Amino acid sequence: MTRIYAFANQKGGVGKTTTAVNLAAYLADAGRGVLVIDIDPQANATSSLGIDPTSLSHSIYDVLIGRAPLADVIVRTALPRLDLAPSAPALAGAEVEMVAMLAREHLLRKALGVVVNHYDYVLIDCPPSLGLLTVNALTAATHGVVVPIQCEYLALEGLGRLWRTIQLVREHLNPQLIISGMVLTMYDPRTNLSSQVVNEVRKHFARQTFQAVIPRSVRLSEAPSYGQTILTYAPNSAGAQAYAALAREWLAREEGQ
Ligand code: ATP
Ligand code: MG
Repeated sequence: MTRIYAFANQKGGVGKTTTAVNLAAYLADAGRGVLVIDIDPQANATSSLGIDPTSLSHSIYDVLIGRAPLADVIVRTALPRLDLAPSAPALAGAEVEMVAMLAREHLLRKALGVVVNHYDYVLIDCPPSLGLLTVNALTAATHGVVVPIQCEYLALEGLGRLWRTIQLVREHLNPQLIISGMVLTMYDPRTNLSSQVVNEVRKHFARQTFQAVIPRSVRLSEAPSYGQTILTYAPNSAGAQAYAALAREWLAREEGQ
C-alpha cells in the first residue's frame, strides 16, 4: 500500500526540503519505490534532486490546475527507484488561481489517482506557509505529517498554528491526518541551546520524535548546489549517516521491521 506524507512547517528554512529529499534517497536505497512531490514554488526539492525547474515544460502546477495528468510530469532522478513530480516558478501563481476552483483543497489528492500506487512512499515537500498548497498536501497525506524542527532559538514558536491547521484539516478535509513524526534538524552539539531544544521536543512529543537527530553539517548544505542528495555527494559524512539512521528508524516504524 502506498503511504503519503506531507513534510510541513510554516517556519522557513527548518529543513523540510533537506529532510524530504535525503530521506527519500535512503528509502529508495533500501529498495522502496519513492516519489517526491515538490509543491513549493521555490522548487528547492526539484533542484536538490538535480532537475532544473526552469527547463521543464510541465510541473506540478499543471497537475494542480488540471492541465496535465500527474503521470506526464513525473521525472526520474539520478537515483534508482526515486522519482520526482517537479515544481516550477509558475506554481507561485497557483494559490491564487486555485481559490476559484471547485474543491480547491482536494486538487492534489484527486490528481494523485492511481499513479501513486506504483510507489511505496510519496513524500510531499511543502512551502513555508499554511496556505492552499500546504492544505492540499495535508489533505492528500494518507499517513500523516512529518514536522522538521530546527534545533535553534524559538524552535517551537508557531507550532500552535501548525497544530490548529492540522486539526482543522482533520475535521473538515482528511479524517486520517495525524502527526506521524518530528525530525530534529541542524543540531549543534557545541551549544546548550541545541540540546535544550532536543529535550523540550522529546518531552512534549515523546512518541512522534525520531531518535535520529540530524546534525548541522556543511556537506548537507552543499549537496543541493550539485543537484545531489547526501547519499551520493558525501555518503560518509555525519549528515549522511544521520539521514541513513532516520531512514532505518522510519522503515522500522512504518513497516514494523
Ligand atoms: P523553506 O521553508 O524555505 O522551504 P526548508 O524548511 O525546506 O526551507 P531547507 O531548505 O531544507 O529548509 O534548509 C534551509 C537551509 O539550511 C538550506 O540552505 C539547507 O541546505 C540548509 N540545511 C538544512 N539542513 C541542514 C543541516 N543539517 N546542516 C546544515 N545546513 C542545513
Ligand atoms: Mg523547502
